[in-house]
Amino acid sequence: MTIQKSEAILLSKREIRETSSIAQFYTKDFGKIKGLIKGVRGPQARMGFYLHEFAKFDIVFYDKRKSDIFMITQCDLLNPYVEIAEDLDKRVKAFYIVELVDKFTPLLDKSLEVYQLLEWVLDFMRKERFINRAIIIFQLKLLENLGFLPMFEHCVNCLGKTVKDACFSLRLSGLLCAGCRDTDLQAAPISRGAVSSLNMIRRQKREKLHSLMITNSISTELNRLLEKLIAYHIGEHLNTTGFMRQVRV
Ligand SMILES: [Zn+2]
Repeated sequence: MTIQKSEAILLSKREIRETSSIAQFYTKDFGKIKGLIKGVRGPQARMGFYLHEFAKFDIVFYDKRKSDIFMITQCDLLNPYVEIAEDLDKRVKAFYIVELVDKFTPLLDKSLEVYQLLEWVLDFMRKERFINRAIIIFQLKLLENLGFLPMFEHCVNCLGKTVKDACFSLRLSGLLCAGCRDTDLQAAPISRGAVSSLNMIRRQKREKLHSLMITNSISTELNRLLEKLIAYHIGEHLNTTGFMRQVRV
């Protein structure tokens, strides 16, 4: 039995029995872990009142033999992100962010970049009013980190430039130039503005993207593209996607 300790962000939780929960955390040092927390509800509840998704904790846990579920023995709150929790729009978007990480990452696959990306987007959402741009950046950087980012710099079929009338192919995972668009009849048109925003986000470090301007129409186009791309890779729509769409309008 090895006792471990890590900073961690809560991704999801599910109540089991009367006073316990199974929770999934994205930890800084181990990637995603699943763990049993006892005593989170009921009269003796010690930590239940602030155990909400997207809050940050210092957790202590140890492994149970023959199981991928850890025992979480300590859960100290580091940051509840109150500014997000108390704002409906931000709260729904933060739920979406953690659901995305939960669905996309396997257990115990450590990525410091993914952890820092999560911290960055939550911190941005805590401080800023206009957060849609940060969510687009987060989604693209997450896909890039996990190896799911399509080819946006040139045509995925002929490797030529996509000057105008480009299409985006989900199946081929990239852009198709005007000459290659028949390669995938389901490829959908994509604007030049959307392509240059995608490439700008891909090339720049997230810290340098604070001042990036994305118009409303490009933002809508990128949101649609990301929604399709994400559903394609995880084989389902996220629970929070519907809410996100309502809040966005
Ligand atoms: Zn081509």
